[in-house]
Amino acid sequence: MMPPMPIRRTHKKQGIKNIARIALLIHAAWWPHKNAHTAEAKPSVTQLCQEWADTLRTVDQAVCQGFDLHASLRFRSVEQRPLVFKEVLPPEQRPPLGRILFIGGIHGDEYAAISITYLWLQQLLNKAHQQNSDLSYHWLFLPLANPDGLFQAPAIRMNANKVDLNRNFPSPDWTASALKTWKKHYRANPRRYPGPKPASEPETQWMVQMIERFRPDAIISVHAPYGLLDYDGPEHARPTQIGHLKRRSLGTYPGSLGRYAGEHLNIPVLTLELRSAGRMPDPQQIDQMLKDLEQWAKARIRQQEEDF
Ligand SMILES: [Zn+2]
Repeated sequence: MMPPMPIRRTHKKQGIKNIARIALLIHAAWWPHKNAHTAEAKPSVTQLCQEWADTLRTVDQAVCQGFDLHASLRFRSVEQRPLVFKEVLPPEQRPPLGRILFIGGIHGDEYAAISITYLWLQQLLNKAHQQNSDLSYHWLFLPLANPDGLFQAPAIRMNANKVDLNRNFPSPDWTASALKTWKKHYRANPRRYPGPKPASEPETQWMVQMIERFRPDAIISVHAPYGLLDYDGPEHARPTQIGHLKRRSLGTYPGSLGRYAGEHLNIPVLTLELRSAGRMPDPQQIDQMLKDLEQWAKARIRQQEEDF
């Protein structure tokens, strides 16, 4: 069942939230911490679910809580929110056909991309609990890679340090080209700021750690609003279409996930660019895309040898 559109909540708690924000600001002014959250009061996964449910209609506090999300022990967001992940495995200890890393919400203002990631995680977890489930892959979901971006008021593309995380990955050309490209190609557009150095941001460091540890056979990330399917990586895994999204190359940039993981690490990186950041595709399209992703994985990706 799909939520009514648009998907960002305009709800009554906003007033209370604003008062809470003002209180935090006053607190931060008196206590000169780097961030509004103090070391003693770092937000929990439960609080993250609450904040997430308060922000997006698709997200339900109890359902999110039921995901049993794990938080990184080493990394938190700039504003100290937990960076959460969830593994989904085929039932009955069946060996998976491969490992797929799914990254959602690198850009905080792409609500539809974040919502669809959440819904797919929910669907895969439901499948994992079904008898005779056809779940075939070991999925690692990072459903909200940039929580601070989503929870700014209003939401922003970048993280809380105003860095575009999708330009902050440590591709080998970062030092030579990232800031230069930003100034020339993007005329120093703040929405594309790659940061002061490669992987300067805790969210990026965390994603890099997850890629290194999980060693995915493929990476899928969801964005909006270009309405296409982008692909970077080895030729054998090149897809043609996922759901209603057809392949068209956007190219990669110094510090982008495509350049880092697709070109440098040679991992197939599939990027779904939804047509709208504020409106969801219809439910049929959402189901079709997930089916096509599983089909693509079966047809195109090659499993690496070692286990996770
Ligand atoms: Zn994006």
